[in-house]
Order: sequence, then C-alpha cells, then structure tokens
Amino acid sequence: MADPRGFLKVKRAKTPERPPAERIADYREITIEPSPDDLRAQASRCMDCGIPFCHHGCPLGNVIPEFNDLVWRGRFEDAVRVLHATNNFPEVTGRVCPAPCEASCVLALEEAPVTIKDVERTIARHFFEAPDHPALRPVRAPFRTGRRVAVVGSGPAGLAAAQQLARLGHDVVVYERDDRVGGLLRYGIPDFKMEKAIIDRRVAQMEAEGVRFETGVDVGRDLGKDELFAKFDAVVLCLGARVPRDLPVPGRELEGVHFAMEYLEQQNRRVAGDDRMGDVVLADPDKGAILAAGKHVVVIGGGDTGADCVGTANRQRAASVTQLELMPKPPLVRMPENPWPAWPLVLRTSSSHEEPSLEKERCEREFAIMTKALLPDASGKRVAKLRAIRVELQNGALRELPGTELELPCDLALLAMGFLGPEKKGIVEELGLALDARGNIVTDRSGATSVPGVFAAGDASRGQSLVVWAIADGRRVAKGVHEALERGSLRAAG
Ligand SMILES: Cc1cc2nc3c(=O)[nH]c(=O)nc-3n(C[C@H](O)[C@H](O)[C@H](O)COP(=O)(O)OP(=O)(O)OC[C@H]3O[C@@H](n4cnc5c(N)ncnc54)[C@H](O)[C@@H]3O)c2cc1C
Ligand code: SF4
Repeated sequence: MADPRGFLKVKRAKTPERPPAERIADYREITIEPSPDDLRAQASRCMDCGIPFCHHGCPLGNVIPEFNDLVWRGRFEDAVRVLHATNNFPEVTGRVCPAPCEASCVLALEEAPVTIKDVERTIARHFFEAPDHPALRPVRAPFRTGRRVAVVGSGPAGLAAAQQLARLGHDVVVYERDDRVGGLLRYGIPDFKMEKAIIDRRVAQMEAEGVRFETGVDVGRDLGKDELFAKFDAVVLCLGARVPRDLPVPGRELEGVHFAMEYLEQQNRRVAGDDRMGDVVLADPDKGAILAAGKHVVVIGGGDTGADCVGTANRQRAASVTQLELMPKPPLVRMPENPWPAWPLVLRTSSSHEEPSLEKERCEREFAIMTKALLPDASGKRVAKLRAIRVELQNGALRELPGTELELPCDLALLAMGFLGPEKKGIVEELGLALDARGNIVTDRSGATSVPGVFAAGDASRGQSLVVWAIADGRRVAKGVHEALERGSLRAAG
C-alpha cells in the first residue's frame, strides 16, 4: 500500500495544462506532466482499498492500486509491467480516457479521487521516452499456429485484437480503408489531446511482432466475403460506428454546414502534413477546405466530439465559438439518484471550452436549445445564421417554449450529434450479419457474430463509445477467436 495516511495529507491536484493563450497557437498536446515528486505525492493518496472500485470501474480491469503503490515507491519498471498486463496501449488511455476508474475511486465519494489517469500516463511516458525500452520491443509468440486471421479496421479495437492474436502465434493481417492506421485515434481525436507519433511507435512494434497492415483496402469493396473466407480462418470486424446523426432542418444543404468528422479529419490531416484529402485541397476553402478562421462557429451537439470541434475552431482562430446542447444543463455535482460509484451525470467542461476565440474569452455553451433552421446569407448559398428555440424536459419529452425563439450568427455549423452505428452498406450487408435495434452488429460474449467465423468488436458492436472499451473489446475478441481456433470450430467458415 502507498502511504496509509496519504489521502489525509495530500489534496488531489488538477492535471497541469499549458495556458490557454499559449496552447491555441499550436496543435501540440496541452497536458504538462506533473513533476516526479508531485506525481508520487498524488499516488500516495491511494488507500489500496480492500474492494478497489477503481478496478471494477475500468473496462480493462487495470490493476490500479498496484501501480499506484509502485509509482509511490519509485518502481517504474514494475509499474510498466503491471500496466501492460491488462492494457495494450496505456499511452493512449492515459491521454484520452475519461477515466471511469476515477469516477468509481472510493475517494470520489468526497469528489477527490486519486489522479489515476495522470499516474497511468506518466508510467507510459516513462517507457515511451526511454530509448529502446523493453515495453516497446516486439513480444514474439513462442510458436506459430499457422492460423490466419483478418482484422478489418485499425482503430483501437482492431489494434488491440491484432496485437493479442499475433502474440498468440496467429498470422494476422489488418485491413484499413484509410491511408493510415489508427481509426478515430488518427483522424478523429485531435492532436492537442493525443499526438499521433505514439500510434506509429506501437504500429512499428506490432509489425515486428508479425502483424501485417494493408491500408487503402476497403473490405467489402476491394476484398469480398469469398476472398476473405478463402484466405483466412477467422475474420474480426472492427469497423467503428461512423454513420453520423444528421440534422433534418431547413437550410441543412447550405454551404458551411458540415458533419464534425469531416471538419476534424481535415485538421488532423493538416497537422500530419497532408495537402489534400481526396479532392479537397486542405488550405483552400474554395476547394473543399473547412476552416473556422474569422467565422462565427456553432457546434451543434454538446458531447466530446463537439468539444473537439470547439478546440479545433479556437486553434483556427474562429471569431466566436458557441456549442448547443438539446438536453438541459447537467448538475454540477451528483444528484441523489446518481450515487457513487456510478458514472457521474454532471456537467463536463473540457479544456477546449476554456480557450479563447478572437472575440470571446471562452466557448459559449447553451443547453436546452433546439436548432430549428439554418438561414442563408445574401447570396442564398452560404449559412449566415442559426435559428433556435429553447426547450424544457417534461415527463421525459422535450417541449418547445413559446416566445423563446432566437437567432445566432453562424458562418460555420458543425454537426456533432452522435453516431448511428456502423455502415451497413458493404461488408456488413454482404455477410448478412444480424444487427441489434440500434443497428450495431450482434455478438455473443466471445465476440462471435451470427455468421460462423466472423467476429466483431469495438464501436461496431457496442455503438460509439470509448477508446478504453474498444481496447477491452479487442482483447476479449482475440481471446474468443483464439479459443474457437483451438477448438477447431472455425475451419468451416463460409
Ligand atoms: C471526434 C471524436 C473524438 C473522440 N474522443 C475520444 C476520447 O477523447 N476518448 C475516448 O475514450 N473516446 C473518444 N472517442 C470515441 C473513440 O474514438 C471510439 O470509441 C474508438 O475509436 C472506437 O474504436 P474502434 O476501433 O471500434 O473504431 P474506430 O476507431 O472508428 O476505427 C474503425 C476503423 O475501421 C475502418 N473501417 C471501417 N470500415 C472498413 C472497411 N470496410 N474496410 C476497411 N477498414 C474499414 C475505419 O476506416 C477505421 O479506421 C472519440 C470519438 C470521436 C468521433
Ligand atoms: S478506489 Fe481509489 S483509493 Fe481505492 S484502491 Fe482504487 S485508486 Fe486507490
């Protein structure tokens, strides 16, 4: 156990961040690592609970009290091993995870959980910054099974599944339709939350472990079901859930109205040094580039994808950024019906909300507001205003409040209202996979779908979720595939 009186002596520290005015000038990560002494002090707050709720709160089952204790004792090498026992990519979760472990930490009863995410990220930085650290060397399987597995999609679910399967001795090919590996880690999550070099380091490790990556391959179009079944003993679909929810209001068709992912992907590519994205010239608004510079930006949708649009628009020097959310403003602290250790349904403020645009000190956030129309400028082609009305929640339904109509300046509207599951057209339809009521691929506990030999994991089977769940699913499906291959029950696939 770390210091038994640690939590009585040391207060929880907020993760240090670069000042807003400085960080909006670039796309580098905003987090500053705590000093070794500060981190050690934070780790000392862990009580090594008899029933560690943090461990249950973590979808990966990370062995949190153990690595808190090791960090407190300065035994970083042991902490690296403990972390990797349950998590393939702690360098990713340490940066982007919303830390359900912290929400369920026993100290969260007093609103001051252990800074588990900081501890995890710092352990990961320890091995990532060391030259040729063993944690990044290939872990080669002691023998090859001769079984071949196709993983379709290279987001965190696909990467975790592929790494686990390769380490079990299977021959793994990852097919990715994008030009680079990483899924939403690469083209969704902005660099200011996670710089992309860390994906490349892991991919290099996986290649050395025998995983083959084939990018630019759209499975279902470039590679059909018959070829998949002819080449592989099992197929794991980690396709993500990328179909965006649309906004069917008048003016939706105007120029300057875009899905959040179109906007975010473009910026992530600019940061990666790309000039073009298909036909789009990334520096030229007349050739498809979506840029917020000098514009009044309205982000429709109050979640994390929306917050990433806010941070990106701030960095592009938008005139102002406003984020609209349909549902009422959540409370600042837990309500009695939402007790610990459940996920707290409280107002979340991301670092992006606290950054300035050209005209405003911070992002303006409006809750309980419904967009009714997008209005054009004098040309009739481009969006210029957004018309909305305030709403209230009554008996579970939203009711418009008469007389509360309002208009906001809006030269760029970004739609970030969630996702509707994986694309059906293509491999999902070709295979005839069973889908649930929300349009996600139905699987059993092992990840097996309704089609023998075909498995699914990550957002494709659970709906748009979190990186930590995708990694957990990837690990689980790898186990399911391995056990099925061991049983020899997949040979008849197709
Ligand atoms: C903007 C944004 C920000 C987010 N930020 C966070 C965050 O900060 N923290 C967090 O925990 N979660 C975040 N999430 C959610 C998280 O990114 C996802 O839950 C996670 O990436 C899901 O992983 P996945 O592997 O299932 O799918 P994805 O990451 O979506 O990867 C799916 C991959 O499959 C590929 N693919 C699809 N179809 C085919 C095909 N037919 N052939 C070949 N390849 C195919 C896609 O190109 C893609 O690369 C965010 C999501 C978005 C949209
Ligand atoms: S619940 Fe919190 S205090 Fe208890 S073991 Fe986990 S991190 Fe430590």
